[in-house]
Amino acid sequence: MRKPTPCVATVEAVRVLAPDVVEVDLRMVEPAEFSFDAGQWVSVPFGEKTVRAYTIASTPRSPRLITLCADVAPGGIGSKWFRALEPGQSVRFKGPTGGFVFHRSDPRRVLFVAEEIGVVPIRSILTALYEGGFGRPAALIHWARDPGRLVYDGEFRSLGRRYPAFTYVRAVRSAPAGWRGDLGESAAIVDRLVHDVNGLVAYVSGGGETIDRVRAVLMAKGLDRKSVRWEKFW
Ligand SMILES: Cc1cc2nc3c(=O)[nH]c(=O)nc-3n(C[C@H](O)[C@H](O)[C@H](O)COP(=O)(O)OP(=O)(O)OC[C@H]3O[C@@H](n4cnc5c(N)ncnc54)[C@H](O)[C@@H]3O)c2cc1C
Repeated sequence: MRKPTPCVATVEAVRVLAPDVVEVDLRMVEPAEFSFDAGQWVSVPFGEKTVRAYTIASTPRSPRLITLCADVAPGGIGSKWFRALEPGQSVRFKGPTGGFVFHRSDPRRVLFVAEEIGVVPIRSILTALYEGGFGRPAALIHWARDPGRLVYDGEFRSLGRRYPAFTYVRAVRSAPAGWRGDLGESAAIVDRLVHDVNGLVAYVSGGGETIDRVRAVLMAKGLDRKSVRWEKFW
């Protein structure tokens, strides 16, 4: 695994994906190319001992321009910084870091479960896998409180149409009439949809409570603890 190194980049573009979700493209300056594995993150310093982690939403195929995506609703120092980013601004961070990565040599069937903005590493992993010629089955259960918080929903639907081996399930706690996805809590949906854990590896990302509940459901079905990989955003 690569060692995290200090980096400098320039904000190239800022897009507001939803009222509280902001995506930024960063043009690498130092180093000019940033090598990382899909699923890894960078840490942004805010003083001596304060850092915030942001996961790389883009794929390693684009080492000169990387994309980060944040839910700025928490409103703390990281959210304020992210929301205020403007094209041309210089940013410093350290990276890459993190072991929430899937190696295509892993023969197991992979199930991804994401809670809201926790989908960012999974977006990078799935895009890199399928656009890199991965033909094997994988599934994503993407859960949010409401449909407006399903970040990258359109992209995952498109990925599912282009790559039939990829199954996309979108689920929310509550939705307006006419909602065509699943309804309920994430762990209950995993419980209902996952029948066979034989040869499975699960990647769960989002809040700690969701990770614990989803892990408990999968372990009750017979999956061993080590086969549930997780990334705790909050
Ligand atoms: C490995 C890792 C990768 C991460 N990647 C991303 C990423 O790609 N995008 C992203 O938006 N955030 C990501 N985070 C979370 C991010 O580092 C910050 O915690 C987040 O931006 C909030 O920081 P803040 O300073 O605004 O709020 P803080 O003052 O630090 O947090 C306020 C409170 O909100 C909670 N919280 C943080 N995020 C959320 C959330 N999304 N929903 C609900 N509660 C939350 C915190 O636990 C805390 O209790 C990641 C965290 C980790 C550990």
